[in-house]
Amino acid sequence: MFIKKIGIDLGTCNSLVFVPGKGIVLQEPSVVAVSLDENKILAVGEKAKEMTGRTPDTIRVYRPLKDGVIADFRVTQAMISYFIKKVIPFYQFFKPELMISIPAGVTSTEKRAVIEAGVKAGAKEVFVAKEPILAAIGAGILINSCSGNLIVDIGGGTSEVAVISLGGIVTSSSVRIAGDAIDGAISNFIKEKNNLAIGEQTAEEIKIKIGTALPERGERILEIRGRDLISGLPRTIKVSSNEVCQVISEPLQEIIQVIKQVLRTTPPELSADIMDKGMILTGGGALLKNIDRLIAKSTGVPCFVAEEPLFCVAKGTGVVLENLKVYKKSIMVKK
Ligand code: ADP
Ligand code: MG
Repeated sequence: MFIKKIGIDLGTCNSLVFVPGKGIVLQEPSVVAVSLDENKILAVGEKAKEMTGRTPDTIRVYRPLKDGVIADFRVTQAMISYFIKKVIPFYQFFKPELMISIPAGVTSTEKRAVIEAGVKAGAKEVFVAKEPILAAIGAGILINSCSGNLIVDIGGGTSEVAVISLGGIVTSSSVRIAGDAIDGAISNFIKEKNNLAIGEQTAEEIKIKIGTALPERGERILEIRGRDLISGLPRTIKVSSNEVCQVISEPLQEIIQVIKQVLRTTPPELSADIMDKGMILTGGGALLKNIDRLIAKSTGVPCFVAEEPLFCVAKGTGVVLENLKVYKKSIMVKK
């Protein structure tokens, strides 16, 4: 079967590829490994992520997308080609149509950079659409109806908050505080309290395994390993869920401030719709335990986590690709 359409959720942390009729066919970290001597791309995705923190001086592992925009054009383009090649492994006569998600706040130059990268990577036509719109579609919201919807996407680098009505964004805001900042707060705390240095992956593991946005009665404990900052030797410590809850409250409050700010600038008719229906959480950050309860408590607006929050944007690209006419108002095209 020829693949004619490919949707890509180009995230700061994870990139996903959706093929209409097949679903999500690829999910890999948005990471590349580059050899500094030859300026060559050595690995992309999972293989590159495994190298994090384990490379010699001559290899650099990094994320080419910072805060959701292309910080390194050449490497991003290589990443997009890698994804297309992985999905279409054999030579195909037809070039595919590509739909790529972009953050709501990108400049037109940044938007053109994404389109250019898609064209150079071998697409026949490149469509781009804003992430909150795709996230809403992927969460099953009927975005073309004349009713307001509040969507909050908490990713790795950024949290984006947007009110959508009639297929467009009415008001939105974003903050560069999301999953990564939560991991950072955890590793800082462990450094200060225990004099122990832990890696990025360990901090994320703590968040995913025992993180909670609200304190719990039944406290959970996790044993982790790091490097003692004084002796320099490896050491094991115990971390508790309620400790983690306390240290991550600061980044979480900053995300809540942005939600409140968007609510304040929402036209009253749409506020009433949002109050009725509640807001929808998408992105990997929505999987943090009790985050919906914390946000509902702090804003007074009901809050629901979308089904498969990590997949919403990717699913949205697929829905739009299959119904380009229906969503023509929400997309931008470039041949
Ligand atoms: P992006 O769109 O920026 O690539 P994602 O939507 O893929 O981001 O979300 C990635 C973030 O979600 C990471 O910070 C990751 O640690 C976090 N995450 C993934 N699963 C969980 C979980 N179960 N609990 C809390 N955070 C999670
Ligand atoms: Mg995302």
